[in-house]
Parts: sequence; C-alpha cells; structure tokens
Amino acid sequence: MKNIISLLLSMLFIATVYAQKPKYKGQAPIKQVLTKSKPVQKQWKGTYSFDNDKVYFSNNFEGGRLNGIIKENDSIYTVLITSENTLINISPWYAFKIWSKEKKQIYVNLTYGNGYRHRYYPKLSKNGLQWTALDSINFTEIEKGDKNFGLESLALIVQMKLEISSDTLWVSAQELQTSKHVKKWIENLSKKTFISSKTIGFSREGRPLTALTIGKKNSKRMLLVISRQHPPEVTGYLAMKAFVKTISSDTKLAKKFRKKYTTYVVPLMNPDGVDNGFWRHNSGGIDLNRDWTIFNQPETLAVSQFIKEKEHETNGAFYFGIDFHSTWDDIYYTIDDSYQGNMPGLVPEWLDNIKKEIPNYNPNIRPSKKMEPAIISRNYFYSAHGMEALVFEIGDNTAREFIKEKGRVSAIELMKLMLLKI
Ligand SMILES: [Zn+2]
Repeated sequence: MKNIISLLLSMLFIATVYAQKPKYKGQAPIKQVLTKSKPVQKQWKGTYSFDNDKVYFSNNFEGGRLNGIIKENDSIYTVLITSENTLINISPWYAFKIWSKEKKQIYVNLTYGNGYRHRYYPKLSKNGLQWTALDSINFTEIEKGDKNFGLESLALIVQMKLEISSDTLWVSAQELQTSKHVKKWIENLSKKTFISSKTIGFSREGRPLTALTIGKKNSKRMLLVISRQHPPEVTGYLAMKAFVKTISSDTKLAKKFRKKYTTYVVPLMNPDGVDNGFWRHNSGGIDLNRDWTIFNQPETLAVSQFIKEKEHETNGAFYFGIDFHSTWDDIYYTIDDSYQGNMPGLVPEWLDNIKKEIPNYNPNIRPSKKMEPAIISRNYFYSAHGMEALVFEIGDNTAREFIKEKGRVSAIELMKLMLLKI
C-alpha cells in the first residue's frame, strides 16, 4: 500500500513538474505556494576515495554538488546527485573535481535518483574559470528518456568518458559562477566612478546581498535588474552581465542614459543556493520566485525594502524591472499590453526593436494576464511599483556568444527607447 501511495505521489509529482515546465511550450500558470522556511538536506563535503584506488572525487568548494559515489569496477564510477529538498523541478545541479595519482581513463555515470532526470550537459575545466562542453563523443545516454519530447525525453542516467590525471579536472552542470566570482565582477565594475555597490541585506546563512548603483545616486528615474533567484540558471546570469556591462560602458549612448536614469542591479539573489550547489531553493528551502507576495525569506524581503527605500529617498519611480533566468529555450515572459505601468508600451516596443537588430531572430514572447497575487518578482515589480517588467529567460544551451550579443543589443535598444520616452 505504502509503495502504491509513493508511486502515485511520484507520478503526480512528475505530472506537476511537467505541467510547470513543458519543454517547448513555456510555463503554465504559477500557483501560490507557502513560502515559510522548510528544512534542507545538508550535503557532506569532502574528498571521496576508494580502497586500493588512486582516484579521488571532491565536492569541497563553493558551488560543489555530489551526494554519493559507488565504484562499479576499475573504471566505472556512479555518482549520485540529490536535491536540497522536495518538491522541486528537474534542474539537477552537479559540480565536482576529479583527480588521480596516475593518468587514466574512467567512466563517470551521473544519476539523480527518485525519478529525476539529467538536464545540464557537462562542462569541463582545468582551473574552475574557463569551461568547455564535454566532447559529444565522450557522452552517452545510458538510460534514455521514454518520450520524444517534454521532460520525459530526458535521460535518467548519462555517462561521461574522462581522461584524468594528477591535474584536477572540474566537472560541472554549467560554468561555475558562485559568490566569489560575482564578488570579483562587482569589484571590477565598481572601479568606474559612476558605479558603487552596497550590502542591502543578508541571506539566511549570512552571505551579503549586494546591489550595484550605476549612474547618479539621487536620480528620480530608476531601473531594477536582478538575477540568480534559481541557482543553476547561469545562462540568465551571463546575459545579465552583458546587459549591465553595456549600460556601464563608455559609449555616447550609455553616458547619456546614465545622466537620465540610474540602474540598480542585484546580480546574485540567492547566494546560499548558489554556493551550496542547490537545484532551485534558498537555504530556507524555498523557491524565492514564489515569495514576492508575503516576503518570508530574507533575500526577497531585502530587495523589496531596497526598492521602497529608493523611491522614498528620491521621490522618483522605477520605470523598468527585469529578472534574468534560464530554461529550455530563450523566452520573454512579459505582462499583457492591457496593463499600463510607469512607461506604457516600453516592453513590447523594446522587444520589437531587439528583433529588428538581431538578424533572423524571432523572439518567443509570452505575455501574462494574471498579476495578483504577485507571487513572482515580475508581478511584484509591476503591481507594487508600476515597473514595466519582464522575465528574461535564456536557454540552458544557448550559444554563449549569442547570449552576450543578446544582452548587449537588449541594453542598447532599451537605453535608446527609454531616452526617447522622456
Ligand atoms: Zn528561474
């Protein structure tokens, strides 16, 4: 009986996940869920080794995730990756290091347990900074998905063939971009005279939440940029970086824009999730992008207070709000045209201009009509502050050069249009 119940529950769970993130159709309506903290499973951190073996695995670094290993034979290792808690969508983040005393070829199987499936194509690095995708000849789906599309098309077990040696090899679901990397990026940007950074709060585990100010400190015209509510969504973060870099550049347009508008950026909304290698939640065990109604979590609360503080200090308004994410494809989740914020028409006109600027590009735009209760950041930005707001989703596998180009063009077109509108 117990087995039947758990089978039914897991079927229901898979069905729910499928409804939320079908592979090509975009998201189903978002449901309000409780956002009071829940326990998360702590990950054992350290180096795994085996009797009479000279191969080592480690998850002992920021962003690392590896929850167990079985040595199958002399050359095959099966790695288990588990989530921080449930219910959770299929976004199994993994990151670990491997080395061996002798040069050797091994096979590493990635397994996720409990009906979860492989999502992120492996990336390799020698130093944790430069990454390349694993050569496809060294990648095999051992247990394939059972459908041709949708989440059930994803493999249950995949295998990587790896060359290992005494030089550490890093394996990760996406390029590692943890607190440490973000901090460095912020420090570099803050060297510019018109950029400063400020701690606006702390995560549950005490990591700082940082906001960048780009432009004049007291401007009445403001924009808000956030990213990384969901830890594995690195491609959205990469687009955000290119977007912010363009607004911070020395072009005539950017200089003019910064005289009229100030951009506030919270690049890392969920530092605990990112540094713990979580699949989706913060260390309160909650999807932060479901907490923009009640603000039970410190990360969302800090940003909502920051917005109010800025409005109060400047007696001005936020005209635009953007939240960068990643999913299966590039998608813009916008707000239906019938809603008019502080700069009506901005987002549809902007997306139209981006389309004209990028050859052969046909953006996937999905407007939403339901704004209350807010639940997610975009709705809160609009409903509580009148921002013309959207979710900017980048595909997990979108070419990195195209991500940069899209971030750059998006920023240029936004600056042009916002300058025309005042
Ligand atoms: Zn997301």
